[in-house]
Amino acid sequence: MRVSQFPLFTLKEVPADAEVVSHQLMLRAGMIRRLASGLYSWMPLGLRVLRKVERIVREEMDRAGALELVMPAVQPAELWQESGRWKHYGPELLRLKDRHDREFCFGPTHEEVITDITRRELKSYRQLPVNFYQIQTKFRDEIRPRFGVMRAREFLMKDAYSFHISEASLAEGYETMFQAYTRIFQRLGLRFRSVEADSGSIGGSVSREFHVLADSGEDEILSSDGSEYAANTELASSPGPAIDTLAPADAEKCATPDTETVEAQAKMLGLALDRIVKSVVVMSDDDTPAVLFIAGDDELNLIKAARALAAEEVRLATAEEVLEATGVPKGFIGPVGLPDGLRVLVDHRAATATNFSSGANEKDQHWINLNWNRDVPLPETADLRMAKAGEPAPDGKGTLHSSRGIEVGHIFQLGRKYSEAMNATVLDENGRDQAMYMGCYGIGVSRIVAAAIEQNHDQKGIIWPAPLAPFQLLIIGIGMDRSEAVREAAEDLHDRLQQAGVEVLLDDRDARPGVKFADAELLGIPHRVVIGDRGLKEGKVEYQGRRDDESTKLDYAGIADTLL
Ligand code: ATP
Ligand code: MG
Ligand code: MG
Ligand code: MG
Repeated sequence: MRVSQFPLFTLKEVPADAEVVSHQLMLRAGMIRRLASGLYSWMPLGLRVLRKVERIVREEMDRAGALELVMPAVQPAELWQESGRWKHYGPELLRLKDRHDREFCFGPTHEEVITDITRRELKSYRQLPVNFYQIQTKFRDEIRPRFGVMRAREFLMKDAYSFHISEASLAEGYETMFQAYTRIFQRLGLRFRSVEADSGSIGGSVSREFHVLADSGEDEILSSDGSEYAANTELASSPGPAIDTLAPADAEKCATPDTETVEAQAKMLGLALDRIVKSVVVMSDDDTPAVLFIAGDDELNLIKAARALAAEEVRLATAEEVLEATGVPKGFIGPVGLPDGLRVLVDHRAATATNFSSGANEKDQHWINLNWNRDVPLPETADLRMAKAGEPAPDGKGTLHSSRGIEVGHIFQLGRKYSEAMNATVLDENGRDQAMYMGCYGIGVSRIVAAAIEQNHDQKGIIWPAPLAPFQLLIIGIGMDRSEAVREAAEDLHDRLQQAGVEVLLDDRDARPGVKFADAELLGIPHRVVIGDRGLKEGKVEYQGRRDDESTKLDYAGIADTLL
């Protein structure tokens, strides 16, 4: 490729509104251009990088046995009403109406659509497990779009959804995706870490995020130097509203035990709580052992929690113990209408971590967290606090260290949340209808491009990891317009390497050397060869790797072989 046919849209100045380095460099290198808040065009250079990420993701998803499909970006409201998310997703969901006044949304994610497909197409457990994925544009009306494509409103995601007949099969499928993600981020050449994440769902469900490590990352990660333990402290940084923001009518409903069934009450509670909380702790009224649950982002989880509560004897800490250990102010406890003398302690924060944790948010309100996993022995009540950097790890091995990360992937065991709500069943071995278990797995394809730059750059520009570089080699001809010898040598090298399959870019502009060198460093192409008249007379050209401090002289005669 020649720059004369592949124009570079580089900028000398740092764009004023770009806060982080990747955003600045992507604009300056001419990879992206802004259309409106959170909306970006991918220019030809940027698109080459985006496609590289996409290709590696696709290859590893295919290798893992997932099946690629493409679903519509625009989705009918009915499906979201079925799952309950139409009401609960909030303003991040871009809602539209067609000419017949029918309601739609632009998909921020595709659980509803894929569940609709599978409930129609899958009949028997024999067709399971199966994993469908797509690489497709999503829209989320982010409250604060920023950092360019890192937190955009329209962005490219790989989203995958697996379906299973049993929890064990789901766990296997999840593990396969974990391995695939590990391979993907290894192949991308990025330093990354997988961390425990907010599952935002009922205890027992599992989720992990993959983070590209970079000082500018929005998330704080605590990781142990003595084990594999790592977790996202996300929950401590985004305070939710306090319980007293409950609408008076809802608060009253919560306080009056006047509803008949557990389900109805849980639903009522969920509706009220959903506006303000992600996690709920249910515990008994007297000093007998309490029960703790985490509710997700809709009332379904709460219904499930109530059902499980009614059906099972789940015993954790006592109410008094929880209160004492967490120091949660009385203001956060509201008696609600659950049966059997159960009370609900409302946690206005989301839930995280494998053990109890507590802390204070920016408004100095206390919160507690719990992620309850049946397979993990519950901690003693003495451990009811949030781990901090510098402390031993929750698993008893090593010390915790804090670092910053950019969330580039998220894998999740959803369980039967969507399949139950949307009646997605298959016949099991005994010929009975059974709701499928489901996992979902996202990768921020476009965010990865920005994250890679956050991790790999210097004062002068981008330093691409080879697997992501838009070109592998840049040839700079010095004075190509004046010297026939230079022109011939540069073009000949370019043609030979291109024929050999090397992604090579020849800077054949009539620009000054200083301009070409500055652009070379900004673009961050891993290898560069400079061909000039003086060197050529001695049969030499100059080679420099993007990370090298100095160039080395190489023989022009053997250069193609050296580079190949
Ligand atoms: P975040 O915490 O950054 O808002 P999320 O947890 O809301 O992300 P998921 O629902 O887990 O995102 O979506 C899967 C992946 O999509 C994320 O891991 C991230 O890499 C990417 N992603 C999410 N939101 C955006 C966005 N606004 N712009 C670019 N990529 C995004
Ligand atoms: Mg988000
Ligand atoms: Mg997140
Ligand atoms: Mg996430």
